[in-house]
Amino acid sequence: MSFAKASVRDAEVEGRRVLVRVDFNVPLANGEVTDDSRIRGTLPTLQLLRDRGAKLILVTHLGRPDGPDPELSVAPAAARLGTLLGVDVRMAPAVVGPEVEALAEELAPGDVVMLENSRFEPGETSNDPELAHSLARLADVYVNDAFGAAHRAHATTEGIAHLLPAYAGLLLEREVEELEAVRDDPAQPLRLVLGGAKVKDKIGVIRRFLDVADRIMIGGAMAFSFFKRQGIAVGKSLVDEASVDAAGEILERADETPCELMLPVDIVLGRGFSAQTERRELDGTEVPDGWMGLDIGKRTGAVYADAISSAGTMFWNGPMGAFELPPFAAGTRAVAEAVADAPGTTVVGGGDSVAALDEFGLADRIDWISTGGGASLELLEGRELPGVAALLDSEAVSSKQ
Ligand code: ADP
Ligand code: MG
Repeated sequence: MSFAKASVRDAEVEGRRVLVRVDFNVPLANGEVTDDSRIRGTLPTLQLLRDRGAKLILVTHLGRPDGPDPELSVAPAAARLGTLLGVDVRMAPAVVGPEVEALAEELAPGDVVMLENSRFEPGETSNDPELAHSLARLADVYVNDAFGAAHRAHATTEGIAHLLPAYAGLLLEREVEELEAVRDDPAQPLRLVLGGAKVKDKIGVIRRFLDVADRIMIGGAMAFSFFKRQGIAVGKSLVDEASVDAAGEILERADETPCELMLPVDIVLGRGFSAQTERRELDGTEVPDGWMGLDIGKRTGAVYADAISSAGTMFWNGPMGAFELPPFAAGTRAVAEAVADAPGTTVVGGGDSVAALDEFGLADRIDWISTGGGASLELLEGRELPGVAALLDSEAVSSKQ
């Protein structure tokens, strides 16, 4: 299967100003970028454009500011990019406006300027056409390499794509290809491990894959939505109440499909969400009063690891427990190690799952690590991503040439 959208490789960019939507929504501490993997992820696209003599104007969102907020300036990300690229990345004083236009006019081929945080403009999230037009005035060509923001119809991801010739960046292209392969053409058997706390975002993926996957393994806080529905005591465990009914529907559907929906058979308990809390291993899943389930147990970890080791395709999203707390990290580690060792195709998404892989030093043993948590889930679920849909179709480019 080939990607249906036009690639940055097909764009004519020499001497032209290219507005690149990147996903530099990176963690900051004391004005420094603490994890630059998203910045590194777009280097191939930026390098290709510079090699071809483009003038680069980059834009990203960072956090969720309500208007201009110096704490959420993208200047630290621009500085880090400059170091990685070995060029001086200039910071624009705003997202759009006359001063920014003047800066864009002055660019020479290979130059890089970074616009301020797109969410300093209220028109970003409302996909305001006026903001999109102001952005379009800055450039001749648009490239979207921000897969992590492609599930949002915002001015910098969607609106602008209708106003300039719009191409997919190399990272976005690869993300869509890798995830579409899991969705549409996986090596069998296809197995999923799903966990974490954001249950609502992941229910749609379970629903879709019940018909096509061979096994779906559930862990993390997500398991307690299922247990609650089954009438199993959950004690003080974190339960996403809004997903309990959906869990019930899924349990019923699972009975009618060949897919085996697997739930933990043992769990690790704590008195509270803390590394210092009293800890107890429970052979079973009925949580006593005053306790909360904070990890899957050893037996569950072994059963899941075994299923992972014989998968043709393995998709993992969501930790198996509160892995940030060392006494409750073993289940997530067992799954992470099994995925790293698995001979099949392995794909992992989700900010916390990827953080766990990094922490365990296993990231380089995974076939594809998605930079887009929500976007990867929506794509797998079969939803159209507005930021991808708005890009130029590849036939449109080939017919032009
Ligand atoms: P991802 O970012 O990989 O998609 P989520 O954001 O959905 O994952 O969930 C990650 C969070 O879930 C982590 O902070 C982890 O502590 C929490 N979590 C996982 N299992 C439990 C649990 N049993 N109880 C409380 N929190 C949990
Ligand atoms: Mg998360």
